[in-house]
Amino acid sequence: MEKISRQDLLEWDRTLVWHGFTQMAEYEPFVIERAEGCELIDLDGRRYLDGVSSLWCNIHGHRHPRIDAAVREQLDRVAHVTNLGASNPTTIRLAKRLVDLAPDGLQHVFFSDDGSTAVEVAVKMALQYWRQRPDPQPEKSCYLALGHAYHGDTLGSVSVGGIDRFHAMFRPLLFETCRVPVPDRDRPPEGVSAENVCRYYLDQLEEVLAQHHARLAAMVVEPLVQAAAGMIMHPDGYLRGVRALTRKYNVLLIADEVAVAFGRTGRMFACEHEQVSPDLMCLAKGMTGGYLPLAATLATGEIWNAFLGTAAEGKTFYHGHTYGGNPLGAAAAMATLDIFDEERTLEQLPAKIARLAERVERIARLPHVGRARQCGMIAAMELFEDAVAGRPYPSAERRAQRVCEHARRHGVWLRPLGDEIVLMPPLAISLEQIDRIAEAAEQGIRAVTET
Ligand SMILES: *Cc1c(COP(=O)(O)O)cnc(C)c1O
Repeated sequence: MEKISRQDLLEWDRTLVWHGFTQMAEYEPFVIERAEGCELIDLDGRRYLDGVSSLWCNIHGHRHPRIDAAVREQLDRVAHVTNLGASNPTTIRLAKRLVDLAPDGLQHVFFSDDGSTAVEVAVKMALQYWRQRPDPQPEKSCYLALGHAYHGDTLGSVSVGGIDRFHAMFRPLLFETCRVPVPDRDRPPEGVSAENVCRYYLDQLEEVLAQHHARLAAMVVEPLVQAAAGMIMHPDGYLRGVRALTRKYNVLLIADEVAVAFGRTGRMFACEHEQVSPDLMCLAKGMTGGYLPLAATLATGEIWNAFLGTAAEGKTFYHGHTYGGNPLGAAAAMATLDIFDEERTLEQLPAKIARLAERVERIARLPHVGRARQCGMIAAMELFEDAVAGRPYPSAERRAQRVCEHARRHGVWLRPLGDEIVLMPPLAISLEQIDRIAEAAEQGIRAVTET
């Protein structure tokens, strides 16, 4: 292979590659050539601890021998089989494994290739379900979502999304979605106490459901934590309340677990914290351990049954992706789940979550830090010019970004979400590595707020 200079790579990265969610006029290349465990290695051989799990998808570390071997073995069999009218053993076994693990009632698996498509599939299934079930309700063709929701970047998932900065531009292309305020446990509305905040948001939800249920096909929620919204955490009991109300008003519940599944919150699925079984559940990011694009939309028997009939009846779900359920991704996912058993990943988490909590508490004591919060292996905090008065820094100062740049110079990769600093390491992280990530964040915050 022709030897390409480091300089050419950086130049092409800046000028040829159009990076997602990135202002290319300001982009500074960050090029990772290799990785080992929880460390990323750049073109110059510099090492960075991965403090954001390769954007929230890595679980067991990079280059895990078990997953590497599983993908190689699958390569020796077959790399691609369409799932339109065909299948392969690895994908079938993964479907069985997911159904066995998932909350009760989710018995069927529709495979696609990323989180956006998993949500797109759920949205389309919900609409078609209401048209085809034994007593059809075709007027149910709207969706209900939370404020600041993020469910992906395809038009259906953007339609149920609600982050203006990302989504407002595309409004002419979107379908209408009803919205309830974001149930932010850490920023309760004026005059609402912490004990009442769950009830307050559920009451608001019930008002909307009471008024619009006849038109609503489904409500979409990210259980427990709204990740891309800025790691917004819901009050305890909210998800359980959502499940009870969606049942009461005959609206399907779509749980978008793309960011929170596979141990991220301390349990395999976030829904387990509140013993909730949704009607549809979307999985992607961590499913392959963060290796390969693969996603799944799990559905109940009731939904599945509404799509059964002869081909001539037209009840088929006319949706499918070329790489949906691809065997390489399925092999990585099977190995990822095997490692959960073999390395007792979930049992190791409480100690790591406690260590992260200790460190977050420490960071929270810094004078310019506010709203420090945590759910499982997700922690976030905000920088304030005046934390007591709750006055943030002007966002043009990009303080959170600067904290992350500082951390990177000290060997830790963090990526902010707007003004939020996020710590979301792979589940395989060690206690000592948690300390190093938190230390880098703390030092970065000191450097950026004490000047
Ligand atoms: C990342 C994410 C998506 C989109 O997944 P992609 O694989 O990036 O398409 C959807 N929902 C949630 C909650 C996410 O965090």
